[in-house]
Amino acid sequence: MYRKNILKKQQNKLVLLNFIAFSLIFSIFSFIIYQLVEETLYSSVDNELLRAKEMSERPNNRMPVPFNPRMIVLLRDAEGAILNEEQIGTRFINEFSEDLPFSLETIETIQTTKLANDYVFRSLMYPNSNGSYTELLISVEAEQSIVNNFIKILFICTIIFVLLSITASYFLAKRSMNPIINSWGKQSEFVENASHELRTPLTIVQSKLEHLLTKPEDTIMNQFESIGLSLSEIRRMNIMTTHLLTLARADSLEQQLQKETVNLGNLVNEVIHPFYELAELEQKEIITQIHSKRTISIDKNRIHQLLVILLDNALKYTRPQDKIHVVLREDPEYLTIDVSDTGIGIREENIKRVFDRFYREDKARIKETGGTGLGLSIAQWIVESHNGTIRVSSKPSSGTTFQVKLPYK
Ligand code: ADP
Repeated sequence: MYRKNILKKQQNKLVLLNFIAFSLIFSIFSFIIYQLVEETLYSSVDNELLRAKEMSERPNNRMPVPFNPRMIVLLRDAEGAILNEEQIGTRFINEFSEDLPFSLETIETIQTTKLANDYVFRSLMYPNSNGSYTELLISVEAEQSIVNNFIKILFICTIIFVLLSITASYFLAKRSMNPIINSWGKQSEFVENASHELRTPLTIVQSKLEHLLTKPEDTIMNQFESIGLSLSEIRRMNIMTTHLLTLARADSLEQQLQKETVNLGNLVNEVIHPFYELAELEQKEIITQIHSKRTISIDKNRIHQLLVILLDNALKYTRPQDKIHVVLREDPEYLTIDVSDTGIGIREENIKRVFDRFYREDKARIKETGGTGLGLSIAQWIVESHNGTIRVSSKPSSGTTFQVKLPYK
């Protein structure tokens, strides 16, 4: 419940953040587009005004302003009184003279002028050589209605996009939460499994010790079995905690590889050496074929650990008279190590689960094998952190092969 609440809160935060980011991007985008459209539309009118002014100012051109049907030309005296009233039309002057104030503050700069609050013009006033002024006006009604329509469309689009962005934010937040939820789930499962796995040997040790306490007069010889079992459970717990620590560090990416250039053949021989004796004690045979003298860049301790896990399993899951083959060979891109045995094998439906943490095919055999179910998870992590691959093939009763491929660098 608590976890669900935290995740929900985090997801809502992400939705809000995504939504704000999307809305901001859309708004900025719309604003830039609006500015660009407005500027482009008005700039052609402004150019017309500037061109007309420039032509009328040419020294050999005494024509006041070249004729342009879109343009109204006002001639003003030094006080601003309109001199060409009859040219423009008395009606125009009567209707709009109040909206056409004379101000020298805005001289030589293009202005937006509204006549009767309805008709929008771009205007430019400049002085003439005789002390009078020319004011040019071009109606931008058409441009204005384009801009107005464009604003409406832009506004509707922005609203639609903002609404869409709420949905997109929700899905994106959900998607980005998935890996967090998964790894959180895995983490809790790992902790739960670890506690469960540690509790079993602890319970055994506790009950054996309690049993010993009820027999204070008894000799060690008589209680040999209880003591032996407790010790083997403690040993198993020891291995398990080391394995758990390795995996926890691997998960937190704290574990760094200490790579060095190594002759893998020598390392394999070194690791196998003590296993010959163990195999002989259990009437099993280890056969090695080392077909490589090439060096490889690896973390020696980790690969040592990997080989021990594979050889240990091969010994654990074989019967007397079984054989264990260890083959090392060079492939063009990889050094390949095969550890195969003629042991009990793994059932087909369980093969893909052997690398899962705490997975053991036969939990009832823990006492015999002392397994923790963590060895192959660690083996897989070691191989993958070396950018290699590990594969398993097996047949019940005929044996199992683990194939490890490690790149040279
Ligand atoms: P464990 O500590 O139980 O050996 P591992 O992670 O090393 O844990 O192995 C997981 C399971 O995979 C083992 O419990 C066993 O069922 C199966 N397994 C591993 N290696 C072999 C093998 N060589 N032959 C048959 N089964 C194997």
